[in-house]
Amino acid sequence: MKKIEHIGIAVKDLEVSNKLYASLFGQEHYKEEEVASEGVKTSFFKSGPNKIELLQATNPESPIARFIDKKGEGIHHIAFAVSDIKAEIERLKKEGFVVLNEVPKKGADNKLVAFLHPKTTNGVLIELCQEIE
Ligand code: ZN
Repeated sequence: MKKIEHIGIAVKDLEVSNKLYASLFGQEHYKEEEVASEGVKTSFFKSGPNKIELLQATNPESPIARFIDKKGEGIHHIAFAVSDIKAEIERLKKEGFVVLNEVPKKGADNKLVAFLHPKTTNGVLIELCQEIE
């Protein structure tokens, strides 16, 4: 894994949170994108070299809706950049991690993504992401 690519935060109302984070960072988000397959609307902010992804559910079955029902708003996942996501999935499976997406899927921000089940990572949902060339 190369570095933390972004931190994902589950929010109830993206519009409200866009304003909140814009005032926190002193700048507007640079991108908003809906990932229909995941039932989420995302918004990306930069803070220096770091990125924050806000996620709002677009339907009640969305993983973000279920997360907020259970835990409320807050940090949802930490994403790590990898250069070869398929190789990394194989490596982590051998190490005993539960990979939720054996076949990486297309996520927001032009990335291939796969998640590791939090039960094998001390309760933290970890996203692997590889930039699509
Ligand atoms: Zn993410």
